[in-house]
Amino acid sequence: RIVYVNGDYLPEEEAKISIFDRGFLMSDGVYEVTSVLNGKLIDFPGHATRLERSLGELDMASPVSMDELLAIHRELVSRNEIEEGLVYLQITRGAPGDRDFAFPDPSTTPSTIVLFTQNKPGLADSPAAKTGTKVISIEDIRWGRRDIKTVQLLYPSMGKMMAKKAGCDDAWMVEDGFVTEGTSNNAYIVKGGKIITRELSTDILHGITRAAVLRLAAEAQMEVEERNFTIDEAKQADEAFTTSASAFVMPVVEIDGVTLGNGTPGTVARRLREIYLEESLKTAI
Ligand code: PLP
Repeated sequence: RIVYVNGDYLPEEEAKISIFDRGFLMSDGVYEVTSVLNGKLIDFPGHATRLERSLGELDMASPVSMDELLAIHRELVSRNEIEEGLVYLQITRGAPGDRDFAFPDPSTTPSTIVLFTQNKPGLADSPAAKTGTKVISIEDIRWGRRDIKTVQLLYPSMGKMMAKKAGCDDAWMVEDGFVTEGTSNNAYIVKGGKIITRELSTDILHGITRAAVLRLAAEAQMEVEERNFTIDEAKQADEAFTTSASAFVMPVVEIDGVTLGNGTPGTVARRLREIYLEESLKTAI
């Protein structure tokens, strides 16, 4: 696999990062994941815009322009012959040559930028989308700026393991009784045909797929309500689903052992997945 590191395209075995990189020592960095379908990038402008916002919130500058970033994405997709898969991008606050809590001077410590592809044939035709997924609920004990897409992913990673141990696919995180989001996706329920999802705030990541799906739902005359919902309300919903760049719209059929509807993906989730895949392919670049 050919990867990109600080201006160079290299075989992955030749890529090198300093042990003093603040991404490695302090999770001081941000990332984006963009999916690739038919060899093209899905929702790229949304991911680029969110990246700029994440960087700005952490007082970091991008080492490349957004146009260059698009060119790097395309180059990697092409060199690695990705038809279906993902492009992972990470920018960290560089390697100051020692460990210190204070941010280094950006004029002497340039940020580190890394991109790599993940080949995932069949990404759009996922079996999980046909059967639906099972989630458990766990307490949300992450930090308070979940709107910044940082590489600080230990708790979501632990949540995923708790779900696996329970024989489930993922965990929905709950704060004060209300669902925030999944470990790596935004969470939705459907009741009486109405799509309900938590409103945007610093409590959750502002999903790029979420924005697209809510816009498409409104265009399809589906009713959408952005409000907090409790985990108890979720267990009584007609259906549930999640959205993310890597799994698109994913139906949820069980929460904490409680089966939703008849235990198969709901009509709203299935329709949204179809519309999203169709529309995002049209605007893929
Ligand atoms: N919420 C969290 C915590 C995530 O990690 C992600 C994706 O990685 C999402 C939501 C979904 O965001 P997007 O649709 O931009 O992939």
